[in-house]
Amino acid sequence: MLNPYWVDLHVHTALSPCGELEMGAPEIVEAARAAGIDVIAVTDHNSSDNFPAISERAEGNPVVLPGIEVQTAEDIHVVAVFPDYPIAASFQSWLWKTWAKMPPTANDPDIFGDQVVIDKDDGIIRMEEVLLVQGTGCDVDTVVREIQASGGLAIMAHVDRPAFSYPSVLGPFPEDYPADAFELSWRIGSDQALEWRERYAARTFIRSSDSHMLESLDRSHCTKMYLEAPTFGEIRLALANDCGRRVSWPWG
Ligand SMILES: [Zn+2]
Ligand SMILES: [Zn+2]
Repeated sequence: MLNPYWVDLHVHTALSPCGELEMGAPEIVEAARAAGIDVIAVTDHNSSDNFPAISERAEGNPVVLPGIEVQTAEDIHVVAVFPDYPIAASFQSWLWKTWAKMPPTANDPDIFGDQVVIDKDDGIIRMEEVLLVQGTGCDVDTVVREIQASGGLAIMAHVDRPAFSYPSVLGPFPEDYPADAFELSWRIGSDQALEWRERYAARTFIRSSDSHMLESLDRSHCTKMYLEAPTFGEIRLALANDCGRRVSWPWG
């Protein structure tokens, strides 16, 4: 039996330097509940270190999936969502090892803000000192391949945006590009969204909030999916339009 679930696969926390400090664990959980969002993925830039805080706080309401918004060597953003935290953490250590090819630039809190690793009550565990919003030493094709090889979903972030998106850097997607979904920004109108759908008719499109502020957590910024249960495996089926699971067109 399939039911509609509201899914937001792109949410930042206080660990993202451009994220507001209001993006703490109790705050995100309360805002997602108030908005009626069933599933969120925690996707900070190049790190999943705040997943445990949000997940422990939520206790399953909403369901919280571990993720990372990878910034590739070409400055393309790819949202990775993983089935569990050990897999996300192991992908992250692979990414950071690759990253070591680059000089680790330090974060300057005066410019970018603090990058805070928190616990479920917003207690500060540590400050991340390496700047997280910088390109890793890893190209986009390798990142997508490694996400999928580790069992994760590779979602091309905000493909409509004029910066930090695959099309803005490399041009149109090859027809067989092995991404699991294309994400569109909620800020675009339905005409523009339809143009994307027509251009890539075989693709699954989702809309995500890319929240850096609590007020962005809203059903009108995310995607309704028809699933048997709000789980990673069911979302994978929906993105593949498999076994009857499906993603509802966000501008419908
Ligand atoms: Zn991004
Ligand atoms: Zn983002």
